[in-house]
Amino acid sequence: MTDIPLNDLGRGVEEHATEIRAAIEGVLTSGWYVHGARHGEFESALATFVGTRHAIGVASGTDALVLALRACAASGVVVTAANAGGYTSVAAHRAGLVPVYADVDPDTHLLDHDAVESVLDARDDVTAVVITHLYGRMADVEDLVSRCRPRGVRVVEDCAQSIGAVRRGRGAGAIGDLGTFSFYPTKNLGALGDGGAVTTDDDELAAKVTRLRQYGWSSKYVVTDMGGINSRLDELQAAILAVRLPHVRAWNTRRRDIIAAYAAAADDRLRVLPATGQEHTGHLAVAESADRDAMLDRLRGAGIGVDVHYPVPDHLQLAWTTDVSLPVTERLAGRVLSLPCFPQLTDAEVQRVCDVIAAPS
Ligand SMILES: *Cc1c(COP(=O)(O)O)cnc(C)c1O
Repeated sequence: MTDIPLNDLGRGVEEHATEIRAAIEGVLTSGWYVHGARHGEFESALATFVGTRHAIGVASGTDALVLALRACAASGVVVTAANAGGYTSVAAHRAGLVPVYADVDPDTHLLDHDAVESVLDARDDVTAVVITHLYGRMADVEDLVSRCRPRGVRVVEDCAQSIGAVRRGRGAGAIGDLGTFSFYPTKNLGALGDGGAVTTDDDELAAKVTRLRQYGWSSKYVVTDMGGINSRLDELQAAILAVRLPHVRAWNTRRRDIIAAYAAAADDRLRVLPATGQEHTGHLAVAESADRDAMLDRLRGAGIGVDVHYPVPDHLQLAWTTDVSLPVTERLAGRVLSLPCFPQLTDAEVQRVCDVIAAPS
């Protein structure tokens, strides 16, 4: 039997190969390769999709975080979780901010809002909180905003894993001061290369991000803002993303169905994190196991593609080691594993994963 991959990007391209080829051909013949008509159209479509006044294309999800932070927090501390892959820490350091970590909720794996509030109570140099909708599960951003806004602390939503999530009628990336998106190929909306975006309802923040993504220019060759970079979303990628955007909700539904099948099948040595309802995009099928490394070996032995998101919490990374202790984050890092999850998995493949996790040894 052939192995079942954790992800297979080729199948995703095949699904809309004709439209993608036509989009690429359209760019080739247009004569515009950066910030042309398709880029503008994609920005508008994304803003409508997310439910914000503005969406600004940038070169990656990490750049989106850097630019969002630079736009809303000139200095100080950014509070965030340490279990979300390190991207916010990379961005905070690049933006000249100091990341301070709060622990996560043991059930949802999302930032614990009470823990955030303790940090806000303990120090007066916090300028922003970054909340990651981890694995696709949309956090209660309204609650976080209600705790942060009275203190003048900005909230940035990292939506790299949560495009299309909706909670109480509001989209991920439309509730905090700014939302950031990645179109890295494995994301729920993937480019065929790198890409990202920043969303916001705030006209001034939008204008600032727009200046910062292109050298700090307010108009051509006129630099008004410090901290500008070159972070443009390519015209080719924008054209491809515009083809794929209308399919994101259906793909998210398929991902949730796959995770629901795993949750129903798994024996009690694996706890598959639930991914139900519009507030989850099913980005990753994550399970907890008390004997994780042995479980990984068994699954690999049965031909199932697996990975760990994420093995090293930010506060324990060699580059950034800090002496904070985050007991829940540390425990979960030793328990999580990810199962195959992408929309083009066949029913037969899903069933085979189910059979294996129902009786993993
Ligand atoms: C992928 C990802 C990013 C970074 O996006 P890039 O486009 O790879 O720079 C940031 N945050 C989260 C949660 C991600 O999953």
